[in-house]
Amino acid sequence: MKKIAILGSTGSIGTQTLEVVRENGDIEVLGLAAGSNIKMLEEQIREFHPQIVAVWSEEKADELRVNVADTDTKIVAGMDGLLEVATMKKTEILVTAVVGMIGIRPTIEAIKAGKDIALANKETLVTAGHIIMPLAKKMGVSILPVDSEHSAIFQSLQGNRHGAVHKILLTASGGPFRGKKSEELMEIKVEDALKHPNWSMGQKISVDSASMMNKGFEMIEARWLFGIPSERIEIVVHPQSIVHSMVAYSDGSVKAQLGLPDMRLPIRYALNYPERLPSACRKMSVAD
Ligand code: NDP
Ligand code: MG
Repeated sequence: MKKIAILGSTGSIGTQTLEVVRENGDIEVLGLAAGSNIKMLEEQIREFHPQIVAVWSEEKADELRVNVADTDTKIVAGMDGLLEVATMKKTEILVTAVVGMIGIRPTIEAIKAGKDIALANKETLVTAGHIIMPLAKKMGVSILPVDSEHSAIFQSLQGNRHGAVHKILLTASGGPFRGKKSEELMEIKVEDALKHPNWSMGQKISVDSASMMNKGFEMIEARWLFGIPSERIEIVVHPQSIVHSMVAYSDGSVKAQLGLPDMRLPIRYALNYPERLPSACRKMSVAD
């Protein structure tokens, strides 16, 4: 059994990670963490029986402790709680799926504790890539990308020498406002920004995708993950979100990873790397 912990287990990536765990059957969840959604955390505790659960809000942690007093799960709180879950003795992989820079410290401590990181939280590399990547190298741990574009690049790099990479082609759907004129953008509301055409995601990343800020973050994330300077990372607009990104090689070949827009695919790849496990997920038909 592979042993994991998940920071941000109640969010979009967190809940999809648990769906992958449910389907996989060979992954044990030892730790979970979230901000304040103790109702969902209680459901997760009763289904997955983690040893430790961290809640950012001290008050909500106290409430959850009472609500799950009949289980063996220990409830911890705040940053100390996040760090405790991030560095649990027996975990092999930490899934970092909290939103925002709060993910940095737990990620650093997990790397120092020798954990591989399944990295969804892009703010970690955007703001602290210069600390995270050298530390991961020093500790000999893997940073396994969960962001779909970075997973695609990671997959397209398998079996090739780093020196042969000419360019990274990072795809972007363009989000819900692609093609709109600047005067039309004067009238848009938050709800419009939250309606991504292809992906269902948390609120912050949906708004960042609508403004294209997310693609800027992803370029920085790619630069740190793959050690390719930003001049050699090109953004390509691809509204269908089927080609998740590509690597152009110096011999003229371009390798791409394709799939339906479903985050469970990159999550599954990160958790099972280097294996590819079969899944009952909907498969892409290239002929359609
Ligand atoms: P969500 O907003 O759906 O979920 C955020 C999670 O973080 C929730 O579990 C939330 O808990 C938890 N959280 C927030 N603050 C804290 C805190 N202080 N301490 C502990 N837990 C906290 O976000 P997403 O799942 O969409 O995104 C997570 C990360 O993954 C982001 O960095 C995003 O950019 C990245 N990402 C997401 C993708 C997606 O498809 N969703 C795709 C690629 C990358 P609570 O529910 O209690 O508030
Ligand atoms: Mg992405």
